[in-house]
Amino acid sequence: MNNESKNFDTLAIHGGGSTSPNGSLTPPLYQTSTFTFESAEQGEARFAGTEEGYIYSRLGNPTVKLLEERIAILEGGEAGLSFGSGMAAVSAVLMALTKSGDHILCSQGLYGCTFGLLQMMKEKYNINHDLSDMDDEEEILSKITSNTKLIYIETPINPTMKLIDLQKVVKIAKQHHIPVVVDNTFCSPYLQQPIKLGCDIVIHSATKYIGGHGDAIAGLVIGKKDFIQQVTMTTKKDIGGIMSPFDAWLLLRGLKTLPVRMDRHCDNTEKIASLLKEHKNVEQTFYPGDFENPGYEIMKKQMCKPGGLISFTIKGSKKDAQNILNRLKLIKIAVSLGDTETLIQHPATMTHAVVPEEARLKMGITDQLIRLSVGLEAWEDIWEDLHQALND
Ligand SMILES: *Cc1c(COP(=O)(O)O)cnc(C)c1O
Repeated sequence: MNNESKNFDTLAIHGGGSTSPNGSLTPPLYQTSTFTFESAEQGEARFAGTEEGYIYSRLGNPTVKLLEERIAILEGGEAGLSFGSGMAAVSAVLMALTKSGDHILCSQGLYGCTFGLLQMMKEKYNINHDLSDMDDEEEILSKITSNTKLIYIETPINPTMKLIDLQKVVKIAKQHHIPVVVDNTFCSPYLQQPIKLGCDIVIHSATKYIGGHGDAIAGLVIGKKDFIQQVTMTTKKDIGGIMSPFDAWLLLRGLKTLPVRMDRHCDNTEKIASLLKEHKNVEQTFYPGDFENPGYEIMKKQMCKPGGLISFTIKGSKKDAQNILNRLKLIKIAVSLGDTETLIQHPATMTHAVVPEEARLKMGITDQLIRLSVGLEAWEDIWEDLHQALND
């Protein structure tokens, strides 16, 4: 199939080579730890790399490989790589790009465990980092040092939904020959394709929209062939945070409906966001699709739709925020996002509890902030539940 000529929705279903020797419609699940060689010489050739073929599933597996090919196509990158979790993907990339003494420049606001990892890298391995708003060129330039080895960005930022203009950052990064890494989890490749905007490496927690059904923890990385090969042979192979073939199979299934699901996530979110904004007990909403949101123009420029997440602050205390969560009946209190079920969480005490208070407040994560991942239920039912919980 000529992948270049097909639309995203088609590639989400058909992209990548076939792994089925028997014509099965669904890709076979190669649930195997190792692969047998026909002879000692074949084993030698596989290890020497003079013959292509599988050796051992930590080094490669046909089901996993199809997923890697498909995600690379969907992100517009040269190659893809899979991991046992989003954090395994993040750590493999950060460790591949840095050594002791290096520096990482990050967006102001990061997934809680990414923040934790950066902290650990600083304390144990002398790899420093700075956070930047990335709002203007001067601000970014002032934080780049001669040791800066990568710029690491989340946009929209979790959980404050602030946006970063990727092309603006890329322009500066290119002048300094620094790769730009984007955690694209909140968008999925359906809404935003950072490589097409000039970024170098994309990371996903595939646990979220890509899987989409709340049944697998997984991570993906997309980038240039050389870089993916380097990670394959170092921080993936030797640290070993690999994806299981079964999880790859689940993600291949999830990807088929990604465009359809994302459209519904986005439609529902738009409705809920406008209702939340008008609610008397809501102080402020943070939603990229709101034209009053400071990131609205950036959203228009680099995302095709505003996504399925909203954060909002309530009038009241931490206890009031917790009580709202406690009164919900349909909406589930859970971290994670991008599932069919609508999920709600309290970042200050849950996903970002590891971030020290001062840094947390700097990121805009107050005790009054609540994050909602809008699911695929009827929006009327989602709103009815939220409304009764907010009103009590
Ligand atoms: C969930 C998440 C991660 C971590 O992914 P896991 O699959 O849970 O390891 C990283 N970044 C973002 C933005 C996330 O939402």
